[in-house]
Amino acid sequence: MKFISTRGNEDGFLKEVEFSYTLLNPSTSFGGLFVPKTLPLLDKDFISKNYNLSYEELALNVLKMFETDIEDEVLKDALSLYKKFDDKNDTTPLVKIEDDLFVNELYHGPTRAFKDMALQPFGHILSHLADKSGKKYLILAATSGDTGPATLDTFADKKNIQVVCLYPDGGTSDVQRLQMVTQSGENLKIIGINGNFDDAQSALKSLLSSSSFKDELQKNSISLSAANSVNFGRIILQIIYHIKGYFELLKRGEIKEGEKIYITIPSGNFGNALGAYYAKKMGLPIEKILIASNANNVLTDLINEGKYDIRDKELISTSSPAMDILKSSNVERVLFDKFGANRTRELMESLNRENFYTLKDWELKELQSDFAAVFSDDVFGKESIKKYAKKGYVMDPHTATCIKAYDKLKKKNLKMILCSTAEWTKFAPTMLNAINDDNKKYSDLEALKTISKELNIEITPSVMELFDKEILHDVIVDKQLIEEEILKFIKS
Ligand SMILES: *Cc1c(COP(=O)(O)O)cnc(C)c1O
Repeated sequence: MKFISTRGNEDGFLKEVEFSYTLLNPSTSFGGLFVPKTLPLLDKDFISKNYNLSYEELALNVLKMFETDIEDEVLKDALSLYKKFDDKNDTTPLVKIEDDLFVNELYHGPTRAFKDMALQPFGHILSHLADKSGKKYLILAATSGDTGPATLDTFADKKNIQVVCLYPDGGTSDVQRLQMVTQSGENLKIIGINGNFDDAQSALKSLLSSSSFKDELQKNSISLSAANSVNFGRIILQIIYHIKGYFELLKRGEIKEGEKIYITIPSGNFGNALGAYYAKKMGLPIEKILIASNANNVLTDLINEGKYDIRDKELISTSSPAMDILKSSNVERVLFDKFGANRTRELMESLNRENFYTLKDWELKELQSDFAAVFSDDVFGKESIKKYAKKGYVMDPHTATCIKAYDKLKKKNLKMILCSTAEWTKFAPTMLNAINDDNKKYSDLEALKTISKELNIEITPSVMELFDKEILHDVIVDKQLIEEEILKFIKS
């Protein structure tokens, strides 16, 4: 299978590339993203042969359909990392919480967020390619708390790869911070910055356009790659769990073959939702993909009104920080799929230049044929956490935003799968505020222990262990000093 750019072709760039190329060089013509030229189909035969398989087996068969240029053996080894998850026979447990509502728990990997679903195998494949190429690669990541730990875990001690991770000091939970600063690996550098996530991300962006920085990389023969969801290697692995969720409903007799379902997704950069969109295009019977947002509701406005408008918007810090985002990168891939490269380039250039674009009426209708969207605030999120905790199901603040979509957007009498993107243990203070209905400032440790006792649930051992681990990375700097820190690390 070949990959092309969402913004058409620019001189000096390859017109069509293989999968391995997109992993190592994720940016392309006119600042666009790579997308597959065509998608494979999930036909009746595929469904009947695969609905009963384990996650790992299904994943291999889905990846094989894409006919990538990665050898089967490498794919198999990469997917065998799912054995590290809590239950190797049930990688993504599907839990029924209402007669028509099922939670697809995607957070049972090493860092307790759904980022592991893609980053575990992705890290193996990318490391394999870097090793084979004999070249050195640098991966830069800015994180609001979940991408960082998952990226560091997957690349620790991998050959020919160095990772630098920037996080906002004070902007993550204690658990998220500890997951990063206690992570061992000679090839990892973790830097806290004085500022918020936006500052971390813009520092990274200005670094990427700094010519002195680029010169230094070149002098040291280092190429740049990316591990965020602009990299298609992440997206391809995020199609699979949507298929698995549907197959699980089939297996349990909750739905009949061909019966449609809703899938609801707590969204930020839209990678998870894009995975569902591709699954739908491949033929998975999805009625609609429901996009749940928090108070940063740019996606709600886009899908309901056809306007992407961040001219007067400032990022709001919420209790679901992984969804605090203004520019949601993967929307671009949907625009391309629906409206083609020229129009995508026009819209994205408008967004970059004016912080704004508007879809035409027919374009909006087209978008609404696959998506519906709603947002909720922290008060609603906390009420939902409390409501379900009382019924015996504990969901994290990101997952809780989906309850609004269940209440408001489910127009037909169909089953719904809701993607759960993180374990509650990563956001314990917010969880305790929700359960106690207060606004006290709890420490993570205090909140973890209290919730564990009150709700009689276990704290995941790897999370508890964090509090006794040695801190290996204690660098916290002002924005101006980031480049210097990174260069020191690269040369060491
Ligand atoms: C990353 C993340 C999201 C947002 O996912 P996208 O694919 O970027 O839309 C939602 N919830 C949690 C817990 C996350 O870590």
